[in-house]
Amino acid sequence: MRSMIPDYLDGALSDVGADDSGATAAYIPELAAADPDRLGAVFATIDGRVYGAGDIDVEFTIQSISKPFAYALALSDRGFEPVLAKVGVEPSGEAFNEISLEDGTGRPLNPMINAGAMTTHALTGPEGADPARRVERVIDGLSAFAGRRLRVDEATCTSEMQHAHRNLAIAHMLRSHEIFTEDPRGVVEGYLRQCSVLVTARDLAMMAATLANRGVNPLSGRRVVGERVVRQVLSVMATCGMYDAAGDWATQVGIPAKSGVAGGIIGALPGQIGIATFSPRLDMHGNSVRGVSLFERFSSDMGLHVMEVPPAARTVVRSHSVRGSAQDAVRVLRLQGGIRFAGAERFVREVMDSPPTEPRVVVDVSAVYSIDDVSRRMLLELVRRLTLDGRDVYLVDPEVIVPDPDPGEGGRLTVVGTVEEVAVRVDGRGVPSARPEVDA
Ligand code: GLN
Repeated sequence: MRSMIPDYLDGALSDVGADDSGATAAYIPELAAADPDRLGAVFATIDGRVYGAGDIDVEFTIQSISKPFAYALALSDRGFEPVLAKVGVEPSGEAFNEISLEDGTGRPLNPMINAGAMTTHALTGPEGADPARRVERVIDGLSAFAGRRLRVDEATCTSEMQHAHRNLAIAHMLRSHEIFTEDPRGVVEGYLRQCSVLVTARDLAMMAATLANRGVNPLSGRRVVGERVVRQVLSVMATCGMYDAAGDWATQVGIPAKSGVAGGIIGALPGQIGIATFSPRLDMHGNSVRGVSLFERFSSDMGLHVMEVPPAARTVVRSHSVRGSAQDAVRVLRLQGGIRFAGAERFVREVMDSPPTEPRVVVDVSAVYSIDDVSRRMLLELVRRLTLDGRDVYLVDPEVIVPDPDPGEGGRLTVVGTVEEVAVRVDGRGVPSARPEVDA
């Protein structure tokens, strides 16, 4: 049997296929001469499965899609503070090649416009690395995101350099503000080599999936950058990734994204998938026309908008019951799903609203698949307070979902594998069968 996902992608491509509006980028011959009819779309899951349709293995230059990845490398190589001191994170609402810097500081507004991207490029690798070594670092880094060795298209790179007057002007302006102090030409050359790296839509989807997978490449299993870096990069993509169309994109599509002038667009959906589209004709913002249509379609057909409100936190408490009676009584609270702050609050409130009078309280997390740090701390603090109130507290956690279950000063928690074990531990008998009191 065949999965419905490639069929869906085939259908989406044929729906947008007839739209031949827009034009290929004209500033260099290599881009102007690209086959405008190319069209492809890829989904890459965070466990490395790829679904594609159309031209997914055709190489084209990565261009500005390299910017978020180079930003990730700079943050990871130099740390947040030195990078933020040189490049801001404010959406500019301007075109990608706008000649504008922040008043006063001379910092580029964000790493997605060229001024910011060139500065970011200069911040990759160890401090003081020569330009050639830095380029190597960037190509190695982009390759690690893609999960295969990438190479530069020399013809595009040479051509870019011959038509780089505007980028050179921006770089000289950055130099005059001492955003960097080296030769501006070397920075522009390095940045344009970075833009000339060849990728396929499949590569781009995998690079986006690496971001969606918190910085670990789904194919190689290799960690490319840390989680904190990924959060920073996705935030900047969400606010600045589509240049002066960022607001439209955020409301219509709602997926952190980045486009490039060769016709690629990536989207990274945290915890779910990486998406890439390829279609060379661009709109007035420099974004692929059919790529934008595809993303709009994907987002609405599949509910991929990141601001889509998730299911209510109340579903975290699966059941709340009392087993046995008198001094045998056990209060059993069964939790389920993924627990984050709102879910933990709901759970704590449930306990506050009907405080256990039974001598023993069991918190069963065997149907929980994840608990974040704040929720873990709230759970353990609740245990500590229950202990201080004279309750014996047990945690049913056969798969060790709650790491280091230490409730701290004055708290006590016994970890067991099943609810039944609780009674056995106490008096060698099984727990009496459930008498539901509150059903959540
Ligand atoms: N190489 C291009 C430039 O810097 C990349 C621009 C883009 O993809 N928007 O002008």
